[in-house]
Amino acid sequence: MNLPSTALSIAGLHKSFGSNQVLRGIDLSASDGDIISLIGASGSGKSTLLRCIPLLEVPDAGTVTVSEDSLSPEGGRLTRGQETVARRMRGHLGFVFQNFNLWPHRTVLQNVIEAPLFVQKRPRAEAEDEALALLEKVGLAEKRNAWPAHLSGGQQQRVAIARALAQRPRAILFDEPTSALDPELVGEVLKVIRALADEGRTMLIVTHEMGFAREVSSRVVFLHQGVIEEAGTPEQVFGNPSSERCRAFLSGHF
Ligand code: ADP
Ligand code: MG
Repeated sequence: MNLPSTALSIAGLHKSFGSNQVLRGIDLSASDGDIISLIGASGSGKSTLLRCIPLLEVPDAGTVTVSEDSLSPEGGRLTRGQETVARRMRGHLGFVFQNFNLWPHRTVLQNVIEAPLFVQKRPRAEAEDEALALLEKVGLAEKRNAWPAHLSGGQQQRVAIARALAQRPRAILFDEPTSALDPELVGEVLKVIRALADEGRTMLIVTHEMGFAREVSSRVVFLHQGVIEEAGTPEQVFGNPSSERCRAFLSGHF
């Protein structure tokens, strides 16, 4: 049997904003098929960590590897040569944000085919066929010609997930995908993410949905003030955390 390979990894990652040291030496890696939930208090650095992987934030120190490419930026900047590598790394990642970030002046279908057509330069017919299949998968094929503003938050987020999948990513990064939703819409989005988990997709998920994290994750990572304070299987982290801070954080969430 082949061992799964590393889809992405981070080593020795540091990131500051001015004098605020947000990430202070993070090591994390995901093998193909891993589902890693990132939990932690607001301000602990979860979004910054996630954004460093596609180099939307450039680390001050450390190495980010995505698929076959690695970068070790210095001083929070990319050189022009590193930019090219960063673009290739981004191309292997799907990103789903808290606020959907759909293009408001493009229809649902146009949102989904944008990157495959104009970034990946795939043929239109192929991109459209695949986009329709993905919209079907997230339950929104009939909304393909709708404008984002005419959809509910839950529907918009499901389009955003279809759009992330359309790039055929090696891994998908979710930053609090349900935090902006009305409570009654959370379930439909979690259901789609759960289906992706069942397909064996590789995912990093920042979430406050602890029940969901416990159910779908292969690994749970608790971040505290920019360091990984606790990491393990969901059973370990939720059932018997060794860190007192993690225990205190969780007791506020159940
Ligand atoms: P979390 O997602 O865990 O709530 P963040 O990564 O968003 O945490 O933020 C961690 C810290 O970094 C916070 O103190 C936040 O104010 C700061 N921060 C995040 N992004 C920026 C930025 N672009 N510029 C300045 N400070 C930032
Ligand atoms: Mg955040």
